[in-house]
Amino acid sequence: MPARKRGEPPGAAAGSVPDCVRCGACCFTTDPRYVEVFDVDWARMGARARSLVDELTEPGEDGAPRVRRFMRILDGRCAALGLDPDRGRYPCSIYEERSDVCRHSLEAGWGHCHEQRAAKLPIAEEALRRSARRG
Ligand code: SF4
Ligand code: SF4
Repeated sequence: MPARKRGEPPGAAAGSVPDCVRCGACCFTTDPRYVEVFDVDWARMGARARSLVDELTEPGEDGAPRVRRFMRILDGRCAALGLDPDRGRYPCSIYEERSDVCRHSLEAGWGHCHEQRAAKLPIAEEALRRSARRG
C-alpha cells in the first residue's frame, strides 16, 4: 500500500474505489500472520504501535524456533484499525508507522484491492454497524 493508503483520496486510477479510510476491507482478517512486521517496520514503530504487535514462534528452515512479528488480530481485524461509525470511517491508528506490507502490498483500486473489497467489504460494514450499536 503506497503513501495514500488511508490518506489522500486515491484519484482517477482507483476508479470507483473510495478513499481507503472509507473502506477498510483489507485490514479485516482472522489470520494471525496477515501483516508481518519486519525489522525495518519495527524500527519505525513507537511504543504504542509496538504494543499492537505479536511475536509468534514457528520452526525455521533449519528446524530451530524462529520468532516473527505480526500485527495483532483482534475481533476479526488488525488491532490498529479504528472504527468511526459516526463518520463512516476506518482510520489506521498507526498510519505513519504502519508496516511496509500495508504500504506496498495493496493500493486502492489496484492489484488485490478489488478482490479484498469483494471478499471483505460486507465484513467491514457489519463491523461498523456493530460498533455503532455498541455506542
Ligand atoms: S481494500 Fe482497497 S480501498 Fe479498501 S482499504 Fe484496502 S486498498 Fe484501500
Ligand atoms: S496497520 Fe493500519 S493499514 Fe495496516 S492492516 Fe493494520 S489498520 Fe490496516
